[in-house]
Amino acid sequence: MNRTPTDTIIIGAGPYGLSLAAHLRATGRSLRIFGAPMHFWSNHMPRGMCLKSEGFASDLFDPDNAFTLKAYCGENGIAYRDIGLPVPLDTFIAYGLEFQRRYVPELEDLQIRSLARGAAGFELQTKTGETVEARRVVVAAGIMNFAYVPPLLADLSERWVSHSCRHSDLSGFRGRSVAVLGAGASAIDMAALLLDVGAKVQLLARRSAIDFHNAPVEPRSRFQSLKAPRSGLGTGWRSRLCTDAPLLFHAMPQSFRFRVVERHLGPAPGWFVRDAVVGRLPMHLSATIVSARVVGERVRLVFSQPNVGETQIDVDHVIAATGYRVDLARIPFIEQGLKSQLNNAEGTPVLSRHFESSVRDLYFIGAAAANSFGPLLRFAYGAKFAAQRVASRLANS
Ligand SMILES: Cc1cc2nc3c(=O)[nH]c(=O)nc-3n(C[C@H](O)[C@H](O)[C@H](O)COP(=O)(O)OP(=O)(O)OC[C@H]3O[C@@H](n4cnc5c(N)ncnc54)[C@H](O)[C@@H]3O)c2cc1C
Repeated sequence: MNRTPTDTIIIGAGPYGLSLAAHLRATGRSLRIFGAPMHFWSNHMPRGMCLKSEGFASDLFDPDNAFTLKAYCGENGIAYRDIGLPVPLDTFIAYGLEFQRRYVPELEDLQIRSLARGAAGFELQTKTGETVEARRVVVAAGIMNFAYVPPLLADLSERWVSHSCRHSDLSGFRGRSVAVLGAGASAIDMAALLLDVGAKVQLLARRSAIDFHNAPVEPRSRFQSLKAPRSGLGTGWRSRLCTDAPLLFHAMPQSFRFRVVERHLGPAPGWFVRDAVVGRLPMHLSATIVSARVVGERVRLVFSQPNVGETQIDVDHVIAATGYRVDLARIPFIEQGLKSQLNNAEGTPVLSRHFESSVRDLYFIGAAAANSFGPLLRFAYGAKFAAQRVASRLANS
């Protein structure tokens, strides 16, 4: 047992955890951060994907905002543009790992198995069995635990149905037939990359159309910039408000906040994947799945569409690119007693203006904070606001 309590422990080493750690180091308080660096990006997104966020909106954040993606690409001779040149996943991962080496060298590449109340505040157990005590804990564990599979499919085993986050290397699907469910960026990226590896792909979506982003047009006129200003979340006043006024968002009534988080910045695919899928695979739109069952060695999906009626297809595998739903109950490492003390609204943590939960000294950053601070928190771009805000709070309390 490590007897000296650590001042702050961060759980998770993605863009949020790493950015916060880089800020906290400057405060001189004792800090430990646990997790495999950029693990979600390197293990739970399909290889070959490009980021949807523009280059300038794909940074991790050190206190001086010096080591940007642009700086990394410049140092390494990698093509980069603030806008209009999609960032390859591999580049972003390599950048994140370099950020970690430079700004968070103390990172411990270990999974946290449990988090509970303890004498010093909190007690954590690592996967290797070490018990660690901390005064404060920041949960920066991302969305992995919140993968959502529609109930009709949830009972089929992973041999037949898997969530999109289960796949990084798609080469095992070569020559196999796959139905991809969803109409968002994950679904369309997945479908395009499956085609690339030689899978036979069909897309099923509830939406009546795939709502691709438009390619950015640069330079923009003054009128265009006034009408729809650019922000790290895209163009438009709504997105701009989301990036510039997360505290105003926090002050709004809960029903408004939840509605905006649900509806704004829906799951639109990037403009640059349009040509890779349109006309290259069957797309069953306005489709509602009626049943899914295993017949012989395949999955039989029955779905209905207006004016078409019911259609049946048999495929080797179904990939549910059906998104993520934040739900505290699904975070496996938070011990039940502690969970029951957390105030939640529809399963998401209720957070103060400083990201603190109803349990004193326990903080949540990243997507788990989106219902409090807005859609900004679902993107790497929000890590700056979160890191600055939490670091200044922890430094001063
Ligand atoms: C397919 C896809 C594409 C996306 N594209 C973009 C994009 O282009 N731009 C963008 O800004 N956002 C994008 N996102 C959203 C993206 O997930 C978030 O922006 C980003 O990951 C937020 O960073 P984070 O640090 O909160 O979470 P993560 O990057 O998920 O990091 C959290 C980390 O915590 C770790 N962790 C979890 N539990 C534990 C534990 N018990 N112990 C130790 N470590 C733990 C996880 O392994 C993970 O590495 C995309 C998401 C998906 C699914």
